[in-house]
Parts: sequence; structure tokens; C-alpha cells
Amino acid sequence: MDSKSIRTSFIKFFEDKQHQYVPSSPLVVKDDPTLMFINAGMNQFKDLFLGNKEADFTRAANSQKCLRVSGKHNDLEEVGLDTYHHTMFEMLGNWSFGDYFKKEAIAWAWELLVDVFKLPKNRLYATVFGGDKEDGLEADQEAYDFWEPIIGKDRIIYGSKKDNFWEMGDTGPCGPCSEIHIDLRSEAEIKQKPGHELVNMDHPQVVEIWNLVFMQFNRLSSGELVNLPAKHVDTGMGFERLTMAIQGKPSTYETDIFTPLIDFIADKAGTKYGENEENDIAIRVIVDHIRAISFAIADGQLPSNNKAGYVIRRILRRAVRYGYTFLDFNEPFLFQLLPLLAGQFGEIYPEIASQQAFISKVIQEEELSFLRTLENGLKKLDQIKRDLRGKEPVIDGKTVFELYDTYGFPVDLTSLIARENGLSVDEEGFTKEMQQQKDRSKKAAAQEATDWIVLSEDEATNFIGYEQLESTAQIIKYREV
Ligand code: ATP
Ligand code: MG
Ligand code: MG
Ligand code: MG
Repeated sequence: MDSKSIRTSFIKFFEDKQHQYVPSSPLVVKDDPTLMFINAGMNQFKDLFLGNKEADFTRAANSQKCLRVSGKHNDLEEVGLDTYHHTMFEMLGNWSFGDYFKKEAIAWAWELLVDVFKLPKNRLYATVFGGDKEDGLEADQEAYDFWEPIIGKDRIIYGSKKDNFWEMGDTGPCGPCSEIHIDLRSEAEIKQKPGHELVNMDHPQVVEIWNLVFMQFNRLSSGELVNLPAKHVDTGMGFERLTMAIQGKPSTYETDIFTPLIDFIADKAGTKYGENEENDIAIRVIVDHIRAISFAIADGQLPSNNKAGYVIRRILRRAVRYGYTFLDFNEPFLFQLLPLLAGQFGEIYPEIASQQAFISKVIQEEELSFLRTLENGLKKLDQIKRDLRGKEPVIDGKTVFELYDTYGFPVDLTSLIARENGLSVDEEGFTKEMQQQKDRSKKAAAQEATDWIVLSEDEATNFIGYEQLESTAQIIKYREV
């Protein structure tokens, strides 16, 4: 089954069970100070769960674009190194707003995975909440009792509060959850170690695919839990992971969601995916990050120097560095993936295709600007590495700041390269330098005239010009040593 049909079958399965299809909300959050990007399917329904809003349906199904690169859910560091976490991914979900509860949610999840998608029963595991003494919470016996006759007690695993109890925040709706995991290892490996020992252990082939959350409590500001007047179901299944399971692939990157992008990049680099681990990591980073960057731009978040915009810029620079270092890409390359993305997502998320030219231009400009200083920054890092030989393997804050300010290296990029070389960075020292810079520019603010920023004298950079993107009126300031 190809990935497009998998997505469609999921939606259709729940539509047939009277669920209303609700389109994905944009990735970029503009009206919530606690959240930069949508990180779960439930975000757009928050007001329904809190009782601030009512919908004209009590059952919904959707496929939500998610980005987990900041805040509570930040998977960025894993991406590329592992084979099942992405920055941007799609979360398939079915929802009950005060309608059905555990029984149906569990039975339908099983029916879909086993009867429709034909996943092998003897490879699936279910986790249920095992209780928490401190909170005075009992184990979720109810969920256990619905699972037991369909999956068997050997395949049910009790989980901790960390993995099996969901809370929106310090207060508000919350409840136990039950997750479905799949063991995709070979028979021989399974003989050596049973799958239930590997659930929740970050094994690349024994992975969580679906989380069923049962909202039944409300946590008050006193910390006390009371029953909610209406109970809700909130489920989230990673589309890429489901596709990997159905297509019987060892990683999400080997599904048809990623192979066209991987083939393009590997071909361009004159290599093959799967031949060299370092190259493979770089390829995974690139094909993952281009999706995050493109969708964020399509939904209105341009790369920039602060907040959400800087998160996107950091992701882009991470991808450019991987391409440059491991695949010898020294010209813009990310933007060339846009036609493939537009073709792939045209039907479900038309915003990529409709803004293709604009997205492509923004990315190309960003790539160009970073590539201008990347080589010098990497040389500088080599020098630092040599200078630290025989000394404490820590790059001091001042140097990290110089890399940031002069070469455009976000601190997490410097950390990443440092780690690759057995070094660490003094983040505290960097933060101090950053603060001093902010204080300086506050002082210099008096010199600023409208849109044109006058660089203060104590900034040790040579100003080389402005460039304006026609379509955004955003002014980009390039600096070079
Ligand atoms: P994990 O433990 O693997 O990090 P999670 O418990 O953080 O996943 P949930 O918040 O329960 O994930 O999200 C629901 C589903 O979304 C998961 O079961 C998984 O299939 C998928 N998912 C979560 N994070 C990612 C990610 N970074 N990339 C791809 N899929 C993801
Ligand atoms: Mg996670
Ligand atoms: Mg988990
Ligand atoms: Mg989970």
C-alpha cells in the first residue's frame, strides 16, 4: 500500500464510523504564547476540551502537520541520527468529544491496524497506565480489560506516569493513555530477546506507533484531580511510522514518503543511500529538514533572527552544514527539493504547491547567505580544535558567540560539531556574551533610523549590504568577516 492510500484509508475508516474530517491546522501558531508550532493533533481542539468552544460534531478525524523542534517536545537532536523521529511529521488522529470512550477507541485501533492494514498481531504490544502512588492514581484497569481479550495479557505492558499519563499542562484536562508499539525485528532477533522487553527502550525497530489518550480528569490548580463531566478521546498516530510498519521497512526513511527525496539527494551527491553511515545521516537530516522548513514557510513563518523564525533558520543551517560537510554540497541544494515536495503533498496540503516559487526563493537565499560564511566558520572551528589539543575540551562562550555573531552558527550547530569532535561548549558563557550584545544594541538603538539599521562601532563585523526579498519586504542583513 502506498503512503497516500494509507492516509486516505485512515480517514475513510473513521468517516465510516461517523467521524467528521477536519483539515490540518497551519503549523505555525500565532495566538498562543505557550506554543510556537503545532506539535500534536490535539492543539487545534484545545478549546473544545477546555469547554471554551462547542463544535457541531462529537467525532472527528484528521491528519495534522506537526513540528517538534522546541519547547516540551523537541526531537531535533535525534533527527537524522535515529530512523523514526522527524522534525516535521504527520499525526493521524481520531477524536471523541464527550462521545465514545476507551472501549471503542481500543477496538477500532485494533480493527484498523489488524483487519484493514494487516499488521501482524504477534508483533503488536499495548501499554496501559500502571498507576502512580504519589498522585494517588490507580492503574488503568479499564483499558487493560478492553485490551486483554483482543491482544492477550502477554502483550500488555504497564507503563509509568511519564509514558502513560497525559496532561495538557499544570492544570486542565488529563488522563491515562494507552500506546501501541510494533516490533519490526527479524524472527532471529526476536528469539534472542522478546519484544516486550524493548517497548519504550528507544529501540529503532521496536517503536511506538499510536497513542490513545483518555481524558477523564481535570487537574485543579491545587493539584487535585477531579472527574471531568464529559470524557474525551484524543489519539495520535505517526503517519511515517505507520507507513514504515505497513510497508515492512526498517526505517521511516525507506518508505515512499522519503525515497524520492533521498534518491534525488544521493544522486546529486554521487552516492547511494545505505552505503556509508555518515553520508546516510546527512541525507536523512536533509530530507527531513526540508519538509520542516518548507511547511513552516508555507504557513507563514519565514526564517529570521528571532523566536520562531530563528528556530526555522537553525533547522535550515543544520541541513546546509550536513550537506556541505558530508556530501560536498557547496552551492544551494535544499531548494531543489521543492518540486518533489509540491508533487507529493499537492492533494493533502496544497499550500506547498501553491507557494512553491516563493518558498523555493526564500530557502535559496537563506542557503546562499549561510554558505558565504560557513566555510570560514568551519575553518575557525578546526583552528579551535587544534588550539584545544591537550587542554580542557570545552569551547569557551566568547568563541561560541563569535561563531554565532560573525559566522552565523547557531549555538546548537556549534554544539553538534563540537560533539562530533569530542568537545563541548560553554553555553552559559555564550548566554552571557549574548546578553552583553543585547545591552550594547539597546544602547545603539538610539542610532537606528527607521528600517535601516546602523551597525554600532563595537560590532566587529564588516557590513556588506542589504538584500530585500521582493515578496516579503523583509530586510536581510548580511555580515561577513
Ligand atoms: P516517542 O516516544 O517515539 O518520542 P511520543 O510518545 O513523544 O513518541 P506522542 O506525543 O505520543 O509521541 O505522539 C503520538 C504519535 O506521534 C507517536 O506514537 C508517534 O507515532 C508519533 N510521533 C511522535 N513524535 C514523532 C516524531 N518526532 N517523528 C515522527 N513521529 C512522531
Ligand atoms: Mg517523543
Ligand atoms: Mg513515547
Ligand atoms: Mg507517546
